[in-house]
Amino acid sequence: MKNLWLAAIGLSLTAPVAGQEQEGLLLSDVTIVNIEDGTLIANQSVLIEGTQITAVGPNVAASPKVERVDAEGRFLIPGLWDSHVHIFSSATEPDTAFPQYLINGVTGVRDMGALWPIAEQQALKARIEAGEVLGPRLVLSGAWVDARPGSWPGMFLADTPEEARSIVARVADEGWAAVKSYSMLDEPTYLALAEASEEAVLPLVGHIPEQVALRTAIEAGQNGMEHFGRIPMACSTEEQAMLDTLRTAMAAGAPLDQVFGIMASRNRIILESWDEERCRRLLAELAAAKLHVSPTLVVANFYLGNWPSADTPRMRMLPGDVREAWGEPDFRLVAMTDEVRALAQDSIALDRRTFLMAHRAGVPILASTDASFANPYLFHGFSLLDELDLYVEIGLTPREALFTATVAPPRFFSLADQDGSIAPGRRADLVLLDSNPLEGLAVLRRPRAVIAAGDYIDRAELDAMEALLLAQGE
Ligand SMILES: [Zn+2]
Repeated sequence: MKNLWLAAIGLSLTAPVAGQEQEGLLLSDVTIVNIEDGTLIANQSVLIEGTQITAVGPNVAASPKVERVDAEGRFLIPGLWDSHVHIFSSATEPDTAFPQYLINGVTGVRDMGALWPIAEQQALKARIEAGEVLGPRLVLSGAWVDARPGSWPGMFLADTPEEARSIVARVADEGWAAVKSYSMLDEPTYLALAEASEEAVLPLVGHIPEQVALRTAIEAGQNGMEHFGRIPMACSTEEQAMLDTLRTAMAAGAPLDQVFGIMASRNRIILESWDEERCRRLLAELAAAKLHVSPTLVVANFYLGNWPSADTPRMRMLPGDVREAWGEPDFRLVAMTDEVRALAQDSIALDRRTFLMAHRAGVPILASTDASFANPYLFHGFSLLDELDLYVEIGLTPREALFTATVAPPRFFSLADQDGSIAPGRRADLVLLDSNPLEGLAVLRRPRAVIAAGDYIDRAELDAMEALLLAQGE
């Protein structure tokens, strides 16, 4: 079913025939939700021309040629961002991922590691921006740098500070949005990577390497960190001892399974030595450093075995080969000892408690999932809504959860035309909802319409996209 989606939708998205061209879209009588302060602004009209919002107010003048949508009783929010995904792990993954994002109101994603060459990623991004392909806005941050042999295929590999510096030069040259550090880098190489990134004015995001203390990463100027586990670890009085054990083993050339065993044994140590006072100090430092955390808490569902059944729409929308691959035993689960599995529940509970503390301490959060065909049971689009539900379950308000997906991401990515507000000059990435999302996020599951770079996708079209995805999965 290669390019089924792009072919089907791409056709309808080619430049409109002369004479049929709409001169824009006017949403009238809508209630705008200000995610930043939680206020509602009723009876607004929003004029969209091209890819941008051009006017907002109670009375907006518009040419008669503008398409009008009566949005009385509806609520308008900025489009959602998933700040940690992998959409280029197979040749055709975007064909499924893009419509899955849009039907869930996700109009922006940050890719954090890919198999596609950067030029091909950029070419697809350019086609989206040109209106030739309907998809979310892309931030390409997948320049992941790891020690040899590399945790995943296609990574940049650095074992020395010199190699780290030359990789950063190449990453800057190729036009990536950031440098992504990965788990197995040693400390001198990591520090050189951080320094070179700063000199190149590229954000350093990614994993805190397993041999590096979280405080060292803060001091090195790390801008964003992926996943949450290193925070509870740094709240442990044993963080340094755990790092030393691993460094000693790696310096002695321990085989990888022994190294992974040491990393897996950390869960119990953290549970026994997590210290609230130490944690508060650390979280205050993270907040002061504005180190943005992409927690990907939804990943825990995978380790807990909370997998959707085969007859759910999200499973049925997957290409058959992906469903099959997800059914295979996963090396990450196979590698889990019984002891680790038994500890998983407690560790996840501690992660969630620490997450709430981090949020309350002002640590900036970017809603994120690790969604990818390469990551079983992490779904493009759907998992982002699961992640937001999880934040609310843990103790954030719906507004605070939405902030992590609408306001925080575009600001962190320094996007000139997007900041989580609905105002003139902003990119028209929007979601129209049937009820007030500040009173509950369930309404996000079925948007009334999604607007992606000015393209208005109404409920009927969203339904058609769902039907196409379900047909693809059959
Ligand atoms: Zn990832």
